[in-house]
Amino acid sequence: MEWVIGAALLALLPAYIVRGKGRPFGPWWLYSFFLFPIALVHAVFAEPLAGSDEAERLDRLQGRKCPYCAETVKWEAVVCRHCGRELPPVSGPRPTPPPSLVGRVIIATIGCFFLLLVLLFLLGYLH
Ligand SMILES: [Zn+2]
Repeated sequence: MEWVIGAALLALLPAYIVRGKGRPFGPWWLYSFFLFPIALVHAVFAEPLAGSDEAERLDRLQGRKCPYCAETVKWEAVVCRHCGRELPPVSGPRPTPPPSLVGRVIIATIGCFFLLLVLLFLLGYLH
């Protein structure tokens, strides 16, 4: 019985990862419940869907929108290369680049390790 609780808790991690990439939480939780190791790797490497928060963040990394013609220009640009108008200075912090592939694998591994620790603790506590 405890393994069901553990699998359900572990399945939250891949489902949470893909939720930020614009994918549905429920089906991914179910997928992760039965095939956790595969689903975790799949979730880490899944591309963000267009329109998701992650996709928008990646778009913002490419540059900022010109307020006059709405074309994307580089963050450092002073003049829009599309309409030629002067751009206002950048306000606020620039978005940070996402972690590299290796970084994402390390983050996923650390997350799994923590979840396993919590799971082992809970299993020991339930006995
Ligand atoms: Zn422009």
